Amino acid sequence: MNGPTQLFIGGRFRDAHSGGTFATVNPATEEILAHVAMADAADVDAAVRAARLAFNRESWRAMDARDRAKLLWKVGDLIRDNADELARTETLDNGKPISESLHVDLPFAAETFSYYAGWCTKIEGETIPVPGNFLNYTLREPYGVCGIITPWNFPLLMVAWKLAPALACGNTVVVKPAEDTPLTALRLAELCRQAGIPDGVVNVVPGFGETAGRALVAHPDVDKISFTGSTEVGKEIMRTAADTLKKVSLELGGKSPNIIFADADIDSAVDGAFNAIFYGKGEVCVAGSRLYVEEPVHDRVLGQLLARAEKLRPADPLEPGTRLGPLVSRTQMERVLGYIEAGRSEGARAVLPGGRVGTRGFYVAPAIFDAVDDSMRIAQEEIFGPVLSVLTFRDADDLVARANGTVYGLAAAVWTRDVGRAHRIARRLRAGTVWINAYLALSAESPFGGFGQSGFGRELGRQGTELYTQVKSVWVHLG
Ligand code: NAP
Ligand code: MG
Repeated sequence: MNGPTQLFIGGRFRDAHSGGTFATVNPATEEILAHVAMADAADVDAAVRAARLAFNRESWRAMDARDRAKLLWKVGDLIRDNADELARTETLDNGKPISESLHVDLPFAAETFSYYAGWCTKIEGETIPVPGNFLNYTLREPYGVCGIITPWNFPLLMVAWKLAPALACGNTVVVKPAEDTPLTALRLAELCRQAGIPDGVVNVVPGFGETAGRALVAHPDVDKISFTGSTEVGKEIMRTAADTLKKVSLELGGKSPNIIFADADIDSAVDGAFNAIFYGKGEVCVAGSRLYVEEPVHDRVLGQLLARAEKLRPADPLEPGTRLGPLVSRTQMERVLGYIEAGRSEGARAVLPGGRVGTRGFYVAPAIFDAVDDSMRIAQEEIFGPVLSVLTFRDADDLVARANGTVYGLAAAVWTRDVGRAHRIARRLRAGTVWINAYLALSAESPFGGFGQSGFGRELGRQGTELYTQVKSVWVHLG
């Protein structure tokens, strides 16, 4: 590993105050990839102070939006120029297949910067007709210092989704990447500096959630926290943020239903269902982990799905042909194996058994459970692994209630050739994203976020600029 491993504060890389480090592990080999500087509350404080100073400086605050746009555009270009290296680092740190890092995470991260580069010059207020002899208009202003806390499943991409709009809107940021995958965020900081983003505008403080993450959320001089991760930590962040009344946006877990009607194009639906749960090792917040199949096509769908999944063996993620890599960590592997056990003991039918593969690396084979009941843990809780629960339905009304029957509401999909039904069901599903005859379609232009306990706030699209600005109403007495 030759990328940066120190904290990035005020435009330079440096060790933690304490001198402490932590190891980040390659999940394919269990070898230590790098020792990374470990931020504690004192480092977080230094990063927040650097970000505040940068926010107050004219060089950022008063920069022409066109110039800010050029900087963001340049970051996108630098991500593209360094895509091979970044993709390799991502795969080494996270275990995701290189085909995914290279063809999805990297282009999407670059595109997110290009897309928000365009927004810099389009963040506008309104002129509002008000009674009396007044002119009233609004300004959309940055919050100030934004704390960004990201998970390990899309390490670079989740930083990009937050950093690009936050910068486009004129904020400064402190990023706390996941301890399991801190490397690409540090390299991105280096690219931001190379692009010419002023010192202190972007700061990165790797470390643990309980220390660095918590310190960032509690810090009185942080204006906003943008978080992606587990629902449990999301709740804790809200509680901590309440003390300083920080603005908070949360993108949390999911248990997304993927619904196949008998009239669907079954080949496409099976293809979609396969990718919905096995893409990204199933460590995907929108994973289609509950597959609802209409009874008449149940056997056909399950048969086709099984035929494909049986051939999906986890393998070395650096190999271009690999489609399933190791899970991110031992903790995550044990969690997923625990759910496979739970599925069995609750009485679901394991048509594909799953289980650990080999003894080195966190490889888990795909698991498919049939005859799953909505009340089982494997139908209610986010597993975050290659484990699919198959449920059968007969009645469409009953189906919607069942599909909506978890605490989550991140995504959902419907496969049918009946256009009217597709849209009727899309309206009734409680989810921030609904796909019709598709799964996992996402792009920088379209808003993304959750209903229910999947969080609130919408990232990406125009809505992404609203997440990082606050409205000021200005009244002018016209004399
Ligand atoms: P997590 O704990 O929610 O981690 C997300 C981020 O929050 C990490 O940077 C984490 O730091 C940080 N964090 C943890 N505790 C914190 C605290 N008290 N205050 C501030 N920040 C804190 O997720 P995880 O433990 O890695 O994964 C557990 C489960 O969460 C997964 O199995 C999955 O079900 C779900 N998950 C969902 C998503 C998603 O995209 N919705 C992503 C990842 C995980 P550390 O890295 O040091 O923990
Ligand atoms: Mg790692």
